Amino acid sequence: QAKASGGNTLRFFNPDMQASVLERANLEADLHHALARHELELHYQIQVNHKGVTTGVEALLRWYHPARGWVSPAEFIPLAEESGLIIPIGDWVLTQACQQLARWSRQTAYAPLTLSVNVSSVQFQQPDFINLVEKRLEQTQAPANRLVLEVTESLLMREPTRVRNTMLRLREQGVRFALDDFGTGYSSMSYLKRLPLDELKIDQSFIRELLTDKADAAIVDTIILLAVSLGLLVVAEGVETQAQLDWLKGHGCYRYQGYLLGHPKPIDDLFTDKMPRR
Ligand code: C2E
Ligand code: MG
Ligand code: MG
Ligand code: MG
Repeated sequence: QAKASGGNTLRFFNPDMQASVLERANLEADLHHALARHELELHYQIQVNHKGVTTGVEALLRWYHPARGWVSPAEFIPLAEESGLIIPIGDWVLTQACQQLARWSRQTAYAPLTLSVNVSSVQFQQPDFINLVEKRLEQTQAPANRLVLEVTESLLMREPTRVRNTMLRLREQGVRFALDDFGTGYSSMSYLKRLPLDELKIDQSFIRELLTDKADAAIVDTIILLAVSLGLLVVAEGVETQAQLDWLKGHGCYRYQGYLLGHPKPIDDLFTDKMPRR
């Protein structure tokens, strides 16, 4: 925000705010080197169905900063978007994910797994995004119909026709689309109708107090009904307790992601405890 309002704005900030602006600038400078210095890593979190079967995995980006340690994507993804670094970083994520999908496709037990990748609106709106995804799929020989691209409501609001065309083109190849953090943005119901979505992910903020907050329960219930009536798969994010899972199952949601099922982990730690049951 400081950037958008111009350099002069800085002097109106209190010292704390100024420090945090500087901190952001430093972090952004470091992010420029993160890829080349191999500081980025993908972690993976499983998605499980009502029978306890692992059906898919979401790739989540991690940055190990040499001085600061782990930096959260919530902190550095916005910086990457502002600076344009999200383009090379997003391509790196996509390539890694496709390579992983290709490896799974060669092993019977893992072949049915889907792999979900978060795609920034900035990245999605690049004119060559379709070509890029097609190229990475082809280079890695990853099965397109196992790749799920997670987009957010903010994307759908911009240039809906172009976004729709991009989605349709990729969908012809088999790529699927999930609407992430559903309920937190400003998307209109008409987008849900017009866009070729496969999945709605209920934001974790609605799941957290599901059992004690009547409003959250009502919202989650409504999202599930909406998704089911539109023929979309509905995934609950941030499921931390068995009670939450039982509630969701009882209300018609059959896909779960959250610490109860498993934390995001490096790939080598993902299936050591239990193989995906089929
Ligand atoms: P998201 O896509 O909604 O991912 C889910 C977030 O919830 C992840 O945070 C995950 O670690 C966290 N989470 C999972 N289960 C639980 C739970 O039971 N309780 C709680 N409290 N949290 C849980 P993370 O990894 O910090 O990522 C934050 C956000 O950063 C992601 O939200 C996504 O929007 C963005 N992000 C992550 N990786 C990428 C990426 O490769 N590209 C882009 N463009 N964005 C990414
Ligand atoms: Mg996501
Ligand atoms: Mg989410
Ligand atoms: Mg998100």
